[in-house]
Amino acid sequence: MTTLLEISGVSVSFDGFKAINNLSFQIGEPELRAIIGPNGAGKTTFMDIVTGKTKPDQGRVLWGDKGISLIGLSESRISREGIGRKFQKPTVFEAQSVRDNLAMALRNPRGPFDVLFYRKNAGGAARIEKVAEQIGLSDALERTAGELSHGQKQWLEIGMLLAQEPRLLLVDEPAAGMTPAERQKTTDILVEAARTRAVVVVEHDMDFVRRLDCKVTVLNEGSVLAEGSLDHVTQNPEVIDVYLGR
Ligand code: ADP
Repeated sequence: MTTLLEISGVSVSFDGFKAINNLSFQIGEPELRAIIGPNGAGKTTFMDIVTGKTKPDQGRVLWGDKGISLIGLSESRISREGIGRKFQKPTVFEAQSVRDNLAMALRNPRGPFDVLFYRKNAGGAARIEKVAEQIGLSDALERTAGELSHGQKQWLEIGMLLAQEPRLLLVDEPAAGMTPAERQKTTDILVEAARTRAVVVVEHDMDFVRRLDCKVTVLNEGSVLAEGSLDHVTQNPEVIDVYLGR
């Protein structure tokens, strides 16, 4: 496993309040990582920094084999670097079929939304079918996205990101509001996706983090409080104090 993302000494203040305070940690490739921490720990701000939405006041955010700096790059440029972000609520094109949602997401050299091209292009169709299989929606390709269950919409959006073949996928609380069966399926999708790329899951739900069975980074007050297996970090007295004890 090589280092894909290196956060080093990063700080961000909002009106004098340090939301991220000398944050340092690394994500490997491939890797599945869970980021946990109490409300206000800085999890969302971390994702905002990596995706270029928020610019750090200090520190380094280095990306890829050459260690290029992501700081100051536009959100669209960072997306083209291969960083995908899944927000908590599903945002799929409700009136379109699952197939067309995936087609719209595919990286298209002739323009991002040329759906017809992909519907008629054998390579595109094969990629759509491969992604549909990865997210368990092979039988739902012709269904309208608006008819899908909440869980299926979340998987479709993960699929739309996977279609773009990101090197790093940031996922915010993917299992919120899901049934136990849907949560298991979500676990399987993320574990599988992380075999060939970095997947970072920001999560509140400890039961779901346990299912992911991966390295955990605990944030608190904008820095790393503990890192390691879930069993390791949940035995840390400071973690118990600030997070689990609440
Ligand atoms: P988490 O996602 O772990 O709950 P956040 O990254 O959302 O934490 O927030 C970290 C801290 O920064 C919180 O105290 C939050 O109120 C503050 N914060 C985040 N974004 C802003 C902003 N745009 N303006 C002011 N304060 C912010």
